[in-house]
Amino acid sequence: MAKCHSCFKETSDSYCRSCQKKLFDGRKVNHILSFTRPEFNEHRMNQSDRLSISGIQVKYSAKLEKKKLVLTEEGGRYIIKPVSYGSFHHMENIPANEHLTMQIANQVFDINTPPNGIMYFKDGEVLYIVKRFDVLYDGSKLLQEDFAQLANRSEENAGKNYKYYYSYEEMAELMKKYVAAYPVEIEKLYSMIIFNYLICNGDAHLKNFSLFRNEQFGDYTLTPAYDLMNTRIHINIEPDTALEFFKDNFTTEEYKAGSKYTRVDFLELGSRIGIKKDRAEKIISRFTSKEKEVIEKVNHSFLLDGLKSGYIELVNQRRERLQK
Ligand SMILES: [Zn+2]
Repeated sequence: MAKCHSCFKETSDSYCRSCQKKLFDGRKVNHILSFTRPEFNEHRMNQSDRLSISGIQVKYSAKLEKKKLVLTEEGGRYIIKPVSYGSFHHMENIPANEHLTMQIANQVFDINTPPNGIMYFKDGEVLYIVKRFDVLYDGSKLLQEDFAQLANRSEENAGKNYKYYYSYEEMAELMKKYVAAYPVEIEKLYSMIIFNYLICNGDAHLKNFSLFRNEQFGDYTLTPAYDLMNTRIHINIEPDTALEFFKDNFTTEEYKAGSKYTRVDFLELGSRIGIKKDRAEKIISRFTSKEKEVIEKVNHSFLLDGLKSGYIELVNQRRERLQK
């Protein structure tokens, strides 16, 4: 038996039935594409001064034609992300890392994510595929705004590193302004911040969170999570979080003493953004209690065997900080 290239469950196909349904509208798509990596059309994302995986990642748009995935300029319902070239560590493992991290988010911690999986170009080069959550089956698009847009931050008005100059506390304030279902949605944002910390995603910046805009009611809700990965495996000098926790340069005494965010900081953040202490405790415990499940997913993943223990070790260190 092989394993599903999306959820890791045993299956004799490339993807199990349930993942075929979610990822490919029920079509039996092979995990090996009929083409190799395109050599042209590689466009690089905006470069900030800060080292980041997202800054070097190449993306292509793809769509399904019967049971085959093809590249497309228009009407793409998928984004494919091959291995990036650059000087970070273990670059060839970036697709497997993103896939694993998205699967842990969804399967272990119930975070809403778009369907995603691992695929290979014809010559065996690995890639990560994710279904776009802003494009519907009929091709219509949902309105979506990322937090850089909501905060009115751009390279023009805030410089090259604009997506890093903000705090999670201020992000919550923006949500309060736009999201009518704030008490529900803020717990989701809080959960994502905790998850990113636990999983060592140091690149959860302003553009990696978005809201859907409901045209009819003019109301907003959080979109599914995206671009999640353990960035520490690839860049060991990266700061622990992409954004500061608190506005106006506030830091807790504990942070001053240890220069690391710990449980105290998460509780302080929770209280500042309107989450009651017992709720915040409960949410943090959810993320610190699933050690076995995380290890199981890592071991089933497509990550190079030699990197699996490193991934687990990094998460264990963060879990300890969250427990303290
Ligand atoms: Zn599956």
